[in-house]
Amino acid sequence: MDKRIITCSAAAVGAVLLAMMMISCSQQTAPPAAPQQATPSVVLPPWGPQHDRNAPQPPVVDPGMASTQAEVGKPPSDATVLFNGKDLSNWESVKGGPAGWKVGKGYFEVVPHTGDIKTKQAFGDCQLHVEWAAPSPPHGEDQDRGNSGVYLMTLYEVQVLDSYQSKTYPDGQAAAIYGQYTPLVNACRPPGQWQSYDIVFHGPRFDAAGNVVRPATYTVLHNGVLVQDHVTVLGLTDGDHQPYKQTPAKMPLKLQDHSHPVRFRNIWIRELAEM
Ligand code: MG
Repeated sequence: MDKRIITCSAAAVGAVLLAMMMISCSQQTAPPAAPQQATPSVVLPPWGPQHDRNAPQPPVVDPGMASTQAEVGKPPSDATVLFNGKDLSNWESVKGGPAGWKVGKGYFEVVPHTGDIKTKQAFGDCQLHVEWAAPSPPHGEDQDRGNSGVYLMTLYEVQVLDSYQSKTYPDGQAAAIYGQYTPLVNACRPPGQWQSYDIVFHGPRFDAAGNVVRPATYTVLHNGVLVQDHVTVLGLTDGDHQPYKQTPAKMPLKLQDHSHPVRFRNIWIRELAEM
């Protein structure tokens, strides 16, 4: 008799135990398990061995200082400052010629119907910091209330809107990727108060035929709160579901004149290495 069966019989002193042992026996007589799959190999960082003290150190950056309502912050030391609080020398009208918006003490403001403005320099993949304030007292409602916009690469809008205790369609409220993604939460401050957008943007890539080989992505923090978590841009944000159009990898940053005197301050950008 099979030695394992003898072992089972000896252990059969109670029904429960017997059942358990029978299960055990059946497992022992089951066909051998398939060989285990090989453990995936460890992914090594591209720069060499782990914990290598001779590996290149990251550049040192003075992180600057965050703004308060009363005081404008200081950008990181490696940022390109797009508004220094004094003039619009880094900007121009999208219609051509100088930017038609007005500069106040430490900020600039949309002058309705003068047109959108854009940076003279083009940018692609980047980290962008923008502060804005909706008009106070508030005026209008829905989309007609403190409306402007931050367009990375001129084409992809992060909505600027007074969404503080004011409703509109969710994918068009403040911090929406306009017409595509509702923000995860509504982190709006009241009109008149300064609000911040911290944006990480990776632009689209196209092949020679103009096909999208890598769509754009947005991560957005509104007043320090995550509102867009690495969302994939579906196409142009103006109009209804407009497909991508082929562009260079870098395009100017655009701010929208939506006929409301929205204010901006402390705008800086850090270009990211190509990925
Ligand atoms: Mg807008």
